[in-house]
Amino acid sequence: MTIDDAPRDALRGGPRELLRWVATGAAVSRADLSRLSGLSPSTVSQRVEALISQGLLEETGAGRSRGGRRPRQLAVPTGGAVVGAIDLGAHHARVGTLDLSGRVVQARTLPVRIEDGPEAVLGALLAEVATLVDGEPAASSGGSATGALRGIGIGIPGPVQHATGRIVSPSRMPGWNGFDVAAFCAGRVDVPVIVDNDANLMALGAHRTAHPELDHAVYIKAGTGIGSGVISSGRLHRGAQGSAGDISHCRVVADPAPPCTCGNAGCLEAVASGAALVTALRGQGVPVSDLTGVIRLIDDGDRQATALARQAGRAVGEILAVVVNFFNPQVVAIGGRLADCEPLLASMRATLYERCLPLATQTLLIERITTGQDVGITGAAHLVIDHVVAAA
Ligand SMILES: [Zn+2]
Repeated sequence: MTIDDAPRDALRGGPRELLRWVATGAAVSRADLSRLSGLSPSTVSQRVEALISQGLLEETGAGRSRGGRRPRQLAVPTGGAVVGAIDLGAHHARVGTLDLSGRVVQARTLPVRIEDGPEAVLGALLAEVATLVDGEPAASSGGSATGALRGIGIGIPGPVQHATGRIVSPSRMPGWNGFDVAAFCAGRVDVPVIVDNDANLMALGAHRTAHPELDHAVYIKAGTGIGSGVISSGRLHRGAQGSAGDISHCRVVADPAPPCTCGNAGCLEAVASGAALVTALRGQGVPVSDLTGVIRLIDDGDRQATALARQAGRAVGEILAVVVNFFNPQVVAIGGRLADCEPLLASMRATLYERCLPLATQTLLIERITTGQDVGITGAAHLVIDHVVAAA
């Protein structure tokens, strides 16, 4: 199944926001929540009671008194893994379990052969989630950790139709086109499974951990492929079908324009993705086998690799400049394996300043995503947590 992530909950003081304030430590009591949300104490109390009854919040004894009765302190239950998360990449998958605050409990990286097809790959990754969950203390002490699982979030490195959880025309995923990930998983686990594309998960994970207070943000995922996720008015913006933010096949100025997997030429993905850099270097006679090799060459200051990285950064900057002028975000952050590539980042930044309206860049933050390798599974977990809160 796929679930809309409760748009109305974006309203100030919605259950999800109350939970986030407690999870981030911004609030420890009902009084704090009332002050932050501007809601009446009775409304806050009602919402808090609903969250407590769903096991999403707990009371942890008395807080500090400001005269009068000492307030009961609120906390998000932590320590127990209740969310499973899978962040599928072209060659690896990060699989983890997280608690209700979005904190990683366990995580591991597995090699993946995407060409083995969806049944084999997803079957193995779901089995890995089950192994992690069964290894939880609640399971080994005779309880049922599996019973505590609230849902599984899955990120796919290709376009996902949000309403159905179906993959539509992915590049570099032979055998996956049209595959219904949500239905396949629903036949194997009895908890909600929420499917999205990997750039959206990176956006959500980075936004919730680094800048939850910012309302408008664009996150670029630059790895083997290239994509972006958009946060608008504090929410993941998917658009009508789920393709919002997919910048991979926007055309950039490149001469000659290299052919793209989509059948067109000169797409951003064909110029600036990790796969494009590998192809371009090979075309220049450099014996490089994968993105790791390309990054090593750039780090070593190799002239050809560095020139290509600059060209890629300019191409990303050109597309981003249109996005920034149009959307006016507060932050543009880049993640993925190419994000540490200094020449790419520098030329992306320069192009952005050159091409954007001064008003759009005056206070614009341009930065690296620093959430680390668990940013995708963190985003996946927040998808599930948001769903659980909305259902509560
Ligand atoms: Zn294309």
